[in-house]
Amino acid sequence: MKPTILLIEDDASIRRFLRASLVTQGFELLEAGTGREGLALAASRVPDVVLLDLGLPDMEGIEVIQQLRTWSKMPIIVLSARGQERDKVANLDAGADDYLTKPFGVGELLARIRVALRKALPAEEGKPEAMYSLGRITVDFERRLVFRGPEEVHLTPIEYKLLAVLIKHRGKVVTHRQLLKEVWGPSHIEQNPYLRIFILNLRRKLEDDPARPQYLLTEPGVGYRLRED
Ligand code: CA
Repeated sequence: MKPTILLIEDDASIRRFLRASLVTQGFELLEAGTGREGLALAASRVPDVVLLDLGLPDMEGIEVIQQLRTWSKMPIIVLSARGQERDKVANLDAGADDYLTKPFGVGELLARIRVALRKALPAEEGKPEAMYSLGRITVDFERRLVFRGPEEVHLTPIEYKLLAVLIKHRGKVVTHRQLLKEVWGPSHIEQNPYLRIFILNLRRKLEDDPARPQYLLTEPGVGYRLRED
């Protein structure tokens, strides 16, 4: 069974470019040029991943996300134009899973689709992992221990929680709001000036060169992403 991707995008040249790449990679592609068509196809065909342009002729991308989220958890990757940080955050907080800024490379798009498809696998849901490793970093969730190479790294409880949340969403961007909510709780979703400091401390403990992080990446104006591979 080929995974099905629904592309909701009104720009014919972007659709053509993505069609060639995605079909070559073995995906089945459904295309919609408006939000209304996209919502209808999402309901009738239930795709594995949705790629959503934000500027559609008949409605805002965020309305498409809100309507989809009333009945489905299908992964949604937003395709946005450069410099729309505020929009990206609003769309992610409305329930989008990730975003790509135009122009983007095919390799990057395929990596995001892989992350989205992995999330959609029902077998992985609700099954806590015992161990996680990324480069030289290993996390033992059962014993709550973190290692960098053979050395144990001592994390504060907040740093550990932050790392665990980023691992849970690995490969995907996590907004500031989402991190604050998952680490500090729903009453702390407003700006927390310490979030940045906690991230810096985590980098200092986990990265080879904290000034040039390889894993704990900043998504400017949006949040953070734990990079894999
Ligand atoms: Ca558009």
